[in-house]
Amino acid sequence: MPAQLAKAWSVALVGLSGAMVEVEAAVSSGLRGTIVVGLPDTAVTEARDRCRAAMQVTDLGWPEGRVTFNLSPANLPKAGTHFDLAMVAAVGATQRLCRQEALRQVMLFGEVGLDGQVRPARGLLPALLEAVRHGFTKVIVPTAQLREAMLIDGVEVTGVSRIERLFAVLNGGNGDEPPPPTPVAPRSKPLPDMADVAGQFEAKWALEVAAAGRHHVYFHGPPGVGKTLLAERLPTLLPDLSPAESREVSSIHSLAGRPLSDLITRPPFSAPHHSASLPAVVGGGAKIANPGAISMAHRGVLFLDEAPEFSARTLDSLRVPLESGKVTISRAYAVTVFPAAFQLVLAANPCPCGNADTPGQECKCTPFTVRRYASRVSGPILDRVDIRQQLQPLQRSFLSRTHAVGESSAQIAERVAAARERQAARLAEVGFQVNGEVPGVVLRKQLPLPDGIELLEAAVAQGRLSARGVDKVLRLAWTICDIAGSAKPSQDQLHAALAMRRGSERC
Ligand SMILES: [Zn+2]
Repeated sequence: MPAQLAKAWSVALVGLSGAMVEVEAAVSSGLRGTIVVGLPDTAVTEARDRCRAAMQVTDLGWPEGRVTFNLSPANLPKAGTHFDLAMVAAVGATQRLCRQEALRQVMLFGEVGLDGQVRPARGLLPALLEAVRHGFTKVIVPTAQLREAMLIDGVEVTGVSRIERLFAVLNGGNGDEPPPPTPVAPRSKPLPDMADVAGQFEAKWALEVAAAGRHHVYFHGPPGVGKTLLAERLPTLLPDLSPAESREVSSIHSLAGRPLSDLITRPPFSAPHHSASLPAVVGGGAKIANPGAISMAHRGVLFLDEAPEFSARTLDSLRVPLESGKVTISRAYAVTVFPAAFQLVLAANPCPCGNADTPGQECKCTPFTVRRYASRVSGPILDRVDIRQQLQPLQRSFLSRTHAVGESSAQIAERVAAARERQAARLAEVGFQVNGEVPGVVLRKQLPLPDGIELLEAAVAQGRLSARGVDKVLRLAWTICDIAGSAKPSQDQLHAALAMRRGSERC
């Protein structure tokens, strides 16, 4: 029997970056068997068994003799189940189920079930973007992911639900219709809105400043005062994602296996539980890493409730992403870099039992436990946090008052958007976009100093404020000034910024 050879195309993904992969199938005489070469992970190695079973079950047949799959470039690690479709197509082409020419410039993506079904796989969006970048004009994807694939312009997308349909399409037939859009269930709960939160005007103001200047926040207060309620509503104050950000954020969510029927255009919210493992928070996986909660919060908000309960390793692993906006994960086969530029909201009870500093409640913790609890969030993380806001339980009388309902998210978001525009224009010459990013040296040397700066000098002289604390107050003063639309922070605005740092004895 002469050796037969055919090839198809797919994409290997390491993080969000991808590379085109040529999937070759060679059938040669000799001992029966199937091997996969070219740095495959377990899922790719198992693909040979899935593909063989599927082709036998569907009567498409499997070649006699030896089948060798080669995924090249060989030095690039391959992970995931989406190579199945290209492997089936290549082996089918060796058996004249389709012509080799039909596979030219076609990117194939999809997992194949033992019964011949073509199933969704993770990372379709970044794979498609890679194919488009390489000039591929046609892609074949699982029908279930057709709507996700249609989000990308510039490429002809065909959906197949079974491998028999794949060969029908490769022989000139039509693909499947996209599945009907998932009916939008009537929401049992309305979208979160700042107006839902009763009282806590000081904390809402702190969130408005946080949203406007992209400052990280630390909420302190007893359980039940609304820390989570407030944190969940921070994304509702932030501007829409730009088109480039939207593609990037959607790609991360596609890679994490979230079904997408639309591009994500709003800042995401990610809130890992304190018992979550380190890989679940920062990203991880057996041989090639998957995105973690901090990457799912990219361009949005990462909320760590009960922050002191997170392991020291997990908290420490946030340090680099907070500086660089990305996270690097080393695994056996590859070093993966994921974007992780998030806005951090930490929340903590005053002590392990939650009752310290709460009027009318008795704290059962020792002073030592209270101190140790507070110090679990390390200095390097707190250095990045500009706003520390204390929350107090609402008074009963306050709840019954009508004015307890405040502004809506949309009203606040309008001021935030205007403040963002003003900062971007003002900071363009020093190379930044938001006040939260501006380093201390730029604040002190390159930007004008606010009126009444003596106030801060006095606070430093009295030991009430550290040098780092000065930078934080300056940053906040600029944001408060940008919200107000003034040219330079006034003495009152400096006071307001200093107040926002109240209770920050450790900074
Ligand atoms: Zn306590």
